Amino acid sequence: MEWKILRGDITSCAVDAIVNAANTSLLGGGGVDGAIHRAAGPELLACCRTLGGCATGEAKLTPGFRLPARYVIHTPGPIWRGGNHGEDALLARCYQNCLALAAQHGCRTVAFPSISTGVYHFPLDRAAAIAAREIRAFGAHPGPVKTVITVCFDDRTFAAYQRAAKTPEA
Ligand code: ADP
Repeated sequence: MEWKILRGDITSCAVDAIVNAANTSLLGGGGVDGAIHRAAGPELLACCRTLGGCATGEAKLTPGFRLPARYVIHTPGPIWRGGNHGEDALLARCYQNCLALAAQHGCRTVAFPSISTGVYHFPLDRAAAIAAREIRAFGAHPGPVKTVITVCFDDRTFAAYQRAAKTPEA
């Protein structure tokens, strides 16, 4: 399995699944969540309304509707509350659950945004290190997912994920 780090807008990714850094209501929000809902069209919100929300660290899958991606995998990341409230483990669960769901649906290519590092304020380097660890651990076992892409919306995020990708596993 290959892990790529790109700069760009996840809503324009023509991949099997894009991950949405959602909130627990799954009813849309700001940041990447708002951008995904705008690009997917109102059918996405109508579909999400039937899902009954999603717990932090868990993941739920919907079609991509008007997006170029076939599926959207919605995962609420943890809100940063200082680091002693299980934030690291919850962020790791987001990656594990999204990747497992992508594999269950036969996805070959999955694109992630930087979960929790926007309005949820998870420290960027720490989040990137967790993403790197979980993506590598998942990739160590053969399965349908061949490519994982982290799509970074700004230079600071791109630099942090590049550093994490270059840092060997501790
Ligand atoms: P969270 O609530 O999980 O912190 P945010 O959406 O606020 O989620 O931010 C997560 C990351 O997604 C941030 O790095 C933000 O800059 C980025 N982002 C915002 N819009 C897009 C987009 N269209 N494509 C990719 N990343 C995006």
